[in-house]
Amino acid sequence: MPGGATADVVVVGAGIVGAACAEALTAAGVKVVVVDRGAAASGTTASGEGNVLVSDKEPGPELELAIASRAEWGAVLARLPERVADVEWESKGGVVVATTDPGPLKAFAAKQQAAGVDARVITPAEAFELEPLLTRNVTIGVHYPADAQLQPVLAATALLTAVRDRGGSVRPGVDALSVRTAAGRVVGLETSAGEIACGAVLNACGPWAGAFGAAAGAPIQVLPRRGMILVTAPLPECVRHKVYDADYVGAVGSGDADLQTSTVVESTRAGTVLIGSSRERIGFDDSVRVKVLRELARKAVGLFPFLGDVPVMRAYGGFRPYAPDHLPVIGPDPRVEGLWHATGHEGAGIGLAPSTGRLITELFLGLTPHIAPDPFRVDRPAVLAA
Ligand SMILES: Cc1cc2nc3c(=O)[nH]c(=O)nc-3n(C[C@H](O)[C@H](O)[C@H](O)COP(=O)(O)OP(=O)(O)OC[C@H]3O[C@@H](n4cnc5c(N)ncnc54)[C@H](O)[C@@H]3O)c2cc1C
Repeated sequence: MPGGATADVVVVGAGIVGAACAEALTAAGVKVVVVDRGAAASGTTASGEGNVLVSDKEPGPELELAIASRAEWGAVLARLPERVADVEWESKGGVVVATTDPGPLKAFAAKQQAAGVDARVITPAEAFELEPLLTRNVTIGVHYPADAQLQPVLAATALLTAVRDRGGSVRPGVDALSVRTAAGRVVGLETSAGEIACGAVLNACGPWAGAFGAAAGAPIQVLPRRGMILVTAPLPECVRHKVYDADYVGAVGSGDADLQTSTVVESTRAGTVLIGSSRERIGFDDSVRVKVLRELARKAVGLFPFLGDVPVMRAYGGFRPYAPDHLPVIGPDPRVEGLWHATGHEGAGIGLAPSTGRLITELFLGLTPHIAPDPFRVDRPAVLAA
């Protein structure tokens, strides 16, 4: 570490991913400063529904990260300061249903079971027992007891509180402009508030990670994938699990730029029901698109007919940070020594944040990683194509 440094690591981005990395690093004794040009958790994290899912991932590296991260949330929540530890965590489980041919959902569940996921194929009658208000058109369901939910802004701010409690610092309203290098390695972060001397910089800029990477001399291909959510007025208990239509998995994994919608419905502790979700690659266009909201509403009523009579309170959207091969980007940048990335988590950053933080910490300290880091490395063709 350079002499006079004020941090071992400066984390750029106080979303859930930057917060989880900072929390894990400080838990291991690393001195951290977190900067964000906005308020903490004001980026994509503020748009997340808060699902912590294993149910929606194909077997492969992302599912392995999701399984590890689901367990890691338990460890992280257990070490949070008591005054902020209530992040509305609910181990509510997920229910995925098909209303057409049951074959593909059954086959998907079988693949996941083989990969170690607790995926229980259920009959329509069993699905109605779990979710009494579901459409009677269900042909098959799969129950995923491990799926959970939390409130993403509460979670990110709780993680940052732990960082502060351990002597780290969190600086909102500070724009990271570039890195300063000496002899080819990072010695500081240049910001709108002056330079912060440090031994390493972690790019956790979410959908803006490509821009910060380029400014730091190491462009990466991370793009925004727009999503919109409808929020109902608070209701008495009506949706007990995270419930979604079987075609959601296809939409998540698709690389299409065109609008895709699939029904995802869950209630929150406040009583509101969140209705998602859409996926579009339209850059950073944040206009409210009635066409998208109409399609979300129509499909949600198909899954839960009672929603047709429920008032919608508001709608909002955000930009999922998207790598072209649908895998997060986690690790050191081989082009600029001391520059690291933790980004590209697309629609799963809330769920995947704790294992990302743990992996960054393990790699940074030269410890044995708890999960194979290779699939997420920075120097893969899809990420460096920019
Ligand atoms: C509609 C919607 C629903 C979603 N639902 C879920 C869900 O249920 N479960 C789930 O796991 N995921 C979900 N996601 C995805 C999840 O929200 C993201 O993967 C996650 O929030 C990404 O977190 P992040 O910390 O990488 O990015 P962000 O939260 O965007 O944080 C990046 C931060 O970097 C800051 N920043 C950027 N550039 C700079 C700079 N140059 N200097 C200083 N600061 C900078 C920004 O201000 C921002 O605060 C959803 C996303 C959307 C859009």
